[in-house]
Amino acid sequence: MFKQKIDKLLIGTNNKGKLSEIKSLLPKSIKIYSTSEFKLKSPIENGKTFKENSLIKSKYFSKKTGLTCLADDSGLEIDFLNKNPGIYSARWGGKYGDFNKAIRRVYIELNKKDKNWKNKKIKARFICALSISYLNKKIVCVSGKVEGHISNKPKGKNGFGYDPIFIPLKKRKTFGEMKPSQKYKMDHRYQAFQKIKKFL
Ligand code: IMP
Repeated sequence: MFKQKIDKLLIGTNNKGKLSEIKSLLPKSIKIYSTSEFKLKSPIENGKTFKENSLIKSKYFSKKTGLTCLADDSGLEIDFLNKNPGIYSARWGGKYGDFNKAIRRVYIELNKKDKNWKNKKIKARFICALSISYLNKKIVCVSGKVEGHISNKPKGKNGFGYDPIFIPLKKRKTFGEMKPSQKYKMDHRYQAFQKIKKFL
């Protein structure tokens, strides 16, 4: 069990959307470092689950810097698409991580499956695995999720990734239409964060 509180932490992501969200969740007393300060590329994510990929990242970035590292692996599961894109969520954006391309692919796949999909409720969820590692040692690894459905068309310019097409349960707006402060209080990263708070 990790008993010492963490006072310095590297955020192991090259995704600006995730970085700003994770920063907003962390206590202000922690000195935060980002991967861009160290000019680090991301490792190959060859895990089979969000948790495995999250640990690959937190261990990799910790070993590269000697700092304790918090990493996130997350994505969107769409039930009607057999839980895809899932761990391939970033990869659906192609080599350059183009989020519009990833969203177009979701609509292409839904159309392929059923031309009438817009008249159905397409259930989906965002999942986030968060891990903290020091060098090759796992300190903690947890996951969180937010349930919802896919919007008939992209809406809103806030956030990143699949935010414009995801409507959380009991809400009318997509994450892309919400203010970041509203999304950050209910999403998958927030849910996962509640479980690791005691380590920080
Ligand atoms: P990775 O965890 O870096 O492999 O990539 C996760 C991918 O899932 C991102 O590139 C986004 O496309 C998507 N994703 C994860 N979390 C969110 C979110 O909060 N909003 C929108 N898209 C997300």
